[in-house]
Amino acid sequence: MSDNNVPRVEVVPNLCKACQRCVEACAPACLVTNTDRAFNELGYQWIVYTGHGCTGCGVCFYVCPEPGAIAVYKREREKKAVE
Ligand code: SF4
Ligand code: SF4
Repeated sequence: MSDNNVPRVEVVPNLCKACQRCVEACAPACLVTNTDRAFNELGYQWIVYTGHGCTGCGVCFYVCPEPGAIAVYKREREKKAVE
């Protein structure tokens, strides 16, 4: 299975304002504050994906108030066997 077939989420560090809405909304709890204790250009400790557990549900995308801060990449549709 290639990486394209695994749902994942990406946060753009400098667009995140660390409101935690995505963290609280993610059922599998796969979004966390960055563990580097680093701050972005806006002065916020941005959110990162733990790297596992994302189902591609998209809830984090819809609750995020910052345009472009978070993107969800869903699993590619599985090819169905023909005939
Ligand atoms: S897409 Fe769903 S499972 Fe994945 S990080 Fe966002 S809220 Fe969590
Ligand atoms: S909802 Fe958006 S702005 Fe808020 S912490 Fe998550 S990615 Fe950052």
